Amino acid sequence: HFITFEGGEGAGKSTQIARLKSFLESRGKTVVVTREPGGSPGAEKIRQLLLSGEARDLGPRGEAMLFAAARADHVDTTIKPALTRGDWVLCDRYADSTRVYQGEAGVDGAYLKLLETAAVAGVYPDLTLLIDVPAEIGLSRVAVRSKTDDSGGPDRFEGEAMKVHQRRRKMFLELAREEAHRFAVIDGSKDLDQVEGAIQEAVLETFPE
Ligand code: C5P
Repeated sequence: HFITFEGGEGAGKSTQIARLKSFLESRGKTVVVTREPGGSPGAEKIRQLLLSGEARDLGPRGEAMLFAAARADHVDTTIKPALTRGDWVLCDRYADSTRVYQGEAGVDGAYLKLLETAAVAGVYPDLTLLIDVPAEIGLSRVAVRSKTDDSGGPDRFEGEAMKVHQRRRKMFLELAREEAHRFAVIDGSKDLDQVEGAIQEAVLETFPE
């Protein structure tokens, strides 16, 4: 049971992942929550490089390789072992984020596809929950979050312009249409309880157990 969460900034992924974890645990499931970039000790080191901007000298193709290197380690040391144990894996971002973020940044799609194939080693999600919010809503949530928590404010990706966010949203929605068999699009502009309910519904539809 491999479920990925996708969406733009401020979509509410982390809140909903925590809620789905509780829901599944209350039904007796063992749940592993993880995230990308990161999710294993090696990949978390790469995350530091990527999100701090230290990897910027690499250029977009090299940066995409770092995302892939992080993903390969994450798959091998965290995701695959958990799935083999029979645990449920909830992952905050996965290969779709690379298709959208690095794709929007201009990295060639065929090149990204090669890296993806190498990195995931056949491990694709059974269900991808795309939490969709208009860019204005997502960005305003991020602005509030960076004022009220200790996350150090927006990271370098979150400071980008509205039109970039709008393009990413469109790309996520296109992906969801192209790969409709594994996607559920969740309206993330609704209140938290409604979003939680919609997610539970999608999960129970995919895994009717
Ligand atoms: O909390 P969140 O998952 O949104 O933070 C991860 C950050 O990394 C995001 O700001 C996102 O813009 C960036 N990212 C990226 N390319 C990926 C995955 C994440 O640029 N493939």
